[in-house]
Amino acid sequence: MQIKLNILILLDFHPVSMFQKQDLLAKEISRLKNEGNEIGFVATMGALHRGHLTLAERALEENDAVVVSIFVNPTQFNNTGDLVNYPRTLEEDTQLLNTLPGNIIIYAPEPKDLYGDTVASTHYNFGGIENQMEGKYREGHFDGVGTVLNLLFRAIAPHRAYFGEKDFQQLQVVRKLVDIENLPIEIVGCAIAREPNGLAMSSRNKRLTPLQFEEAAIINETLKIVQQHFNQWSIPKLQKYVEERFSENKHITLEYFEIANIETLQPALRKRKGNTYRAFIAAFAGDVRLIDNMALNS
Ligand code: AMP
Repeated sequence: MQIKLNILILLDFHPVSMFQKQDLLAKEISRLKNEGNEIGFVATMGALHRGHLTLAERALEENDAVVVSIFVNPTQFNNTGDLVNYPRTLEEDTQLLNTLPGNIIIYAPEPKDLYGDTVASTHYNFGGIENQMEGKYREGHFDGVGTVLNLLFRAIAPHRAYFGEKDFQQLQVVRKLVDIENLPIEIVGCAIAREPNGLAMSSRNKRLTPLQFEEAAIINETLKIVQQHFNQWSIPKLQKYVEERFSENKHITLEYFEIANIETLQPALRKRKGNTYRAFIAAFAGDVRLIDNMALNS
């Protein structure tokens, strides 16, 4: 007699669970912690791509369960158009997270569940790094980021939280935030995941036309050239080179290019021994804003 085995046994496979309410999420996290599990956390605004998944994978490697929040945080947008047009794809996001082997818990709240009745930012002093680059061009952005992460950190109380170097300034702000709020959370920075043409993966890439997508490769290409010439060229020369290169491209408009010290994030006018620098670019493809950055020395 032939026995047909049609049952596929997936060891260590847990379908993701989803919570929209903080109190239910807190119960699940307490249960896991009481059983001795360590919790990792990845904060996202959804429209997930491989960059987000690399964070979740690392978190799964280093923790027993991982909470992924999916929340488009209104208080960190200074441009209503950007907030309204931000892609929202909760069903696809859930399916993607379901492909990861491990215990993933999605927290996808409505604003009221996190903020209560008043959706507003707290003002933070992050020692000045909040006023550079993204802070300069997106007023109040890091107050919004700090506020929502403080709420999420308190709701989840993870052992470790994972952030991408794609948003390097945000990563540095988060390190300050846990100090200011005295939260015992280890902050882990993760490398930038890129498209085959070098463009940093981003939820906003979904809004690019095929031509814009192709042309946006100029951002990463320029950063690589800056990295290659960093030792030989002065900072003003690098600055001029980048501005000229972008001015020749009809599809991508440079918003800012800066070389900054990684601690202060202040623009560097000249190189100083012993300092570590990164180059940062923000640029527009139509109305889609893209950012990227690269280490220049270590
Ligand atoms: P977002 O959904 O854009 O708020 O991003 C959520 C987290 O994913 C942040 O910590 C980002 O820095 C990180 N992230 C976004 N894009 C990438 C990428 N291309 N590579 C690595 N991390 C990323």
